[in-house]
Amino acid sequence: MLKEKYQAVMEALAQAAQSSDRKPEDIHLIAVSKTHPASAIEEVYKFGHTAFGENRIAELNEKKHLLAGLNIEWHLIGQLQTNKVKLLASDVILHSLDRISLAEALAKRPEKFRTLIQVNCSEEANKSGVALADFDALVEKVAAIKNIEVLGLMTIAENSENEALVRKAFQRLKSLSDRLAAQKIFPEYRGWLSMGMSGDFALAIAEGATHVRIGSAIFGTRN
Ligand SMILES: *Cc1c(COP(=O)(O)O)cnc(C)c1O
Repeated sequence: MLKEKYQAVMEALAQAAQSSDRKPEDIHLIAVSKTHPASAIEEVYKFGHTAFGENRIAELNEKKHLLAGLNIEWHLIGQLQTNKVKLLASDVILHSLDRISLAEALAKRPEKFRTLIQVNCSEEANKSGVALADFDALVEKVAAIKNIEVLGLMTIAENSENEALVRKAFQRLKSLSDRLAAQKIFPEYRGWLSMGMSGDFALAIAEGATHVRIGSAIFGTRN
């Protein structure tokens, strides 16, 4: 069951890459395992998959501990409260650097952190991610902090059937990323674009996604 779903997703990713004249190996799948047990992660790991995403730090740490023997690359894709920065292990890639206070809390830690800046490209109220209007100020602040490496950008598009609207959010992220790359603000910048989920990954890949975060299409629906 899990195997069929995982393979179907991998095939759909390759298909989307080909349709956009992109190489399948340039699209990285982050299997989003939130709410699912560590045993499900272990099963997908056995298919040869190593990148997993969780949206809550406590749940991530619990599974990371349970699966410590496996060579998993962990991604934290949900919001991180400032008072929980102390719980973030430095080998976890943080997709949700979204505000100056979080950057300042990370700056107090001695370790280096790999991060993506999350942007609210859809400009929805209550949506996570730095507002477009505040993006430059956040970039300037983070660039001055030595232990934060910025590898790329992350966004969540509208949950909408309107393809043009969804594409617009992805296009905005891509153009912000192209600008950061051209300006060479972050020495470690890799141009990662973390965008696309179960419902919209094909559009995200068409618009340049390098990392798609897919949960329900692999693990099934969540309660
Ligand atoms: C849950 C989650 C996903 C995966 O969503 P699916 O629709 O289940 O694929 C992707 N990104 C973030 C930030 C999430 O919280």
